[in-house]
Amino acid sequence: MKHIDNFNFKNKRVLIRVDYNVPLDENFKITNESRITASLPTLRKILQDGGSIILMSHLGRPKGGYEEKYSLKHLITSLSNHLERKVSFAPDCIGEEAYAISSDLKPGEVLLLENLRFYKEEEKGDVAFAEKLSKHGDFYVNDAFGTAHRAHASTTIVARFFPGAKCFGYLMVKEIESIEKVMKNSREPVTAVIGGAKVSDKVLIIENLMDKVNHLVIGGGMAYTFMRARGGTTGNSLVEEDRIELAAQLIKKAEEKGISLHLPEDSVVADAFSNDANTGISDSNKIADGWMGLDIGPKAIEKFSSVLLQSKTILWNGPMGVFEMEKFKKGTVAIADAIAHATEKGAFSLIGGGDSVAAVKHFGYAKKVSYISTGGGAMLEFLEGKELPGIKAVMEE
Ligand code: AMP
Repeated sequence: MKHIDNFNFKNKRVLIRVDYNVPLDENFKITNESRITASLPTLRKILQDGGSIILMSHLGRPKGGYEEKYSLKHLITSLSNHLERKVSFAPDCIGEEAYAISSDLKPGEVLLLENLRFYKEEEKGDVAFAEKLSKHGDFYVNDAFGTAHRAHASTTIVARFFPGAKCFGYLMVKEIESIEKVMKNSREPVTAVIGGAKVSDKVLIIENLMDKVNHLVIGGGMAYTFMRARGGTTGNSLVEEDRIELAAQLIKKAEEKGISLHLPEDSVVADAFSNDANTGISDSNKIADGWMGLDIGPKAIEKFSSVLLQSKTILWNGPMGVFEMEKFKKGTVAIADAIAHATEKGAFSLIGGGDSVAAVKHFGYAKKVSYISTGGGAMLEFLEGKELPGIKAVMEE
């Protein structure tokens, strides 16, 4: 891997793609700085080596021209405070004015470029635009995992203009190393917990994981499509009728590969999709008409937890139930708790993608797992086994 620690940036002008897509309030005040603080280790390493920095990022979804609310100038004060130095700003990410500042940077100096997406060429992956961006630096660092699945000018195409002079920043390294700990260099038993609403969203992930895991735990709404594939009745539970056959094939494939597939034996059922609904516990394969499974039940929690506690490597994507509602959060919390205990006992645990990340943070388990991925879409594509263009572009010469 092209790890930032393997390079020295003395006297280099380093063009860094960061993810500064931070939330701003109506007064353009940053309401959550975590994306900025997350980038600091990479920036500090380069500054300590004696390099200078040109930062580029997108912010929001501008329509293709300047919009005040999406200007990166709102980040200058925060960045400057964190880095304890002046941060210059270029009101256009390309062009003579910007080049004049970047070419004049002295070691230890920092320049922030204006929002890349004020140019439509950024998302189109325009080669000429990428070449213009490349003029700012003599070394390229990609530290924006969240956009690594996009072949945009600044995330992918620009890398080709830095042969032999590009690497991943610390954030990217952590993401790649964490996923490799699950997918390549894993310690067995390996368990993947997959939940969430629909089978159709997760099929590619499940298929890809079939070659990598010993245990596959399935919960959430998608479990009921599997129940039907096994001949169960699921009442009003969420079922993708057109994916029942696919679920049956996945069950068969798991058997052929000797994977232990765990479905929730019981469920918390409700007579409406509401926190005010009447609830009960039912076998997941015998849910009565008028009732729907909205969380895994106590037997399922016990079984899933015991599998997790024996695991040495854990991947979790997708909640076990409708965790946004108080009455149906217990399964998701219990799984977070079991993963935290397994981690305490020495397992490596990666929480990847969307709602399970939100759940782990919301229920207070963020510090009790090994790694929480910062990139929703990028992590999902990684788990599906796809090569991410932003990663490939840095790996190439
Ligand atoms: P996903 O984005 O695919 O990970 O799905 C997350 C969503 O699935 C959350 O909003 C959950 O409320 C929802 N979900 C989880 N379990 C169920 C269930 N049994 N029935 C309906 N929706 C569910």
